[in-house]
Amino acid sequence: MIIPKTREEIELMRESALIVSKTLGMLASEVKPGVTTLHLDKLAEEYIRDHGAEPGFLGLYDFPNSLCMSPNDQVVHGFPTDVPLKEGDIISIDCGALKNGFYGDHAYTFEVGEIDPETKKLLDVTKESLYVGIAQFKAGNRVGDVGYAIQQHCEQYGYGIVRELVGHGLGSKMHEAPDMPNYGRRGRGKKFIEGMVVAIEPMVNMGTHRIKQHRDGWTITTRDNKPSAHFEHDVALIDGKPQLLSTFKYIYDSLGIESNEEQPFRTSEVIL
Ligand code: MG
Ligand code: MG
Repeated sequence: MIIPKTREEIELMRESALIVSKTLGMLASEVKPGVTTLHLDKLAEEYIRDHGAEPGFLGLYDFPNSLCMSPNDQVVHGFPTDVPLKEGDIISIDCGALKNGFYGDHAYTFEVGEIDPETKKLLDVTKESLYVGIAQFKAGNRVGDVGYAIQQHCEQYGYGIVRELVGHGLGSKMHEAPDMPNYGRRGRGKKFIEGMVVAIEPMVNMGTHRIKQHRDGWTITTRDNKPSAHFEHDVALIDGKPQLLSTFKYIYDSLGIESNEEQPFRTSEVIL
């Protein structure tokens, strides 16, 4: 059952989302060749706790860390390790925070030094598809409309949309109804309702959509070992329209990137 949130609850959720956004912003300047993902995990845990929140993933379904760290061909749910990042890697960092009883949960795929143009294109298209999907999260639409839009956008480049892992409702639980697949059919699935909050998170592979689940029970890689990208935002349905609770602004500030991609999904009252 979809649990809609009151305006007050949505403001609390925005607070949790912004802690995650700032954590990713802090990490943006730390992601570089030679750094281990375990080190980044420690930094993130400290930062989240310093901001009065709990790491949202630590202990969730027995996950042992604060961040999911998925380099290169890892899709999602990778563990932080003591293997240093190297020039040309990509690293998907998924972060959660729990504050005031509500979760924030979003993700960004970072470039480590210079990456090759083909991989850069994968990142660009995956991020574009996130906003293409968010635009369909509006009154009158259904779950399938978001998935359809994301799938169409990515498949035109020959990319594979992961089927086994999906976005989700978000609230006092990390994973609430409804499931939000990144593929689907227009006009199908649950109807969106005012006040609902979802995490929309395309997981897009450069090659096949097929994946391998590793024996550790967590790590998931692409079947063909080509790279995979992951971008995620938390979005509330307010006055029939999608409104972002999370932001990549802190990442862009740190990396010196100019972007107005979030503009259509943000009201002027929200000051970041
Ligand atoms: Mg996430
Ligand atoms: Mg999520």
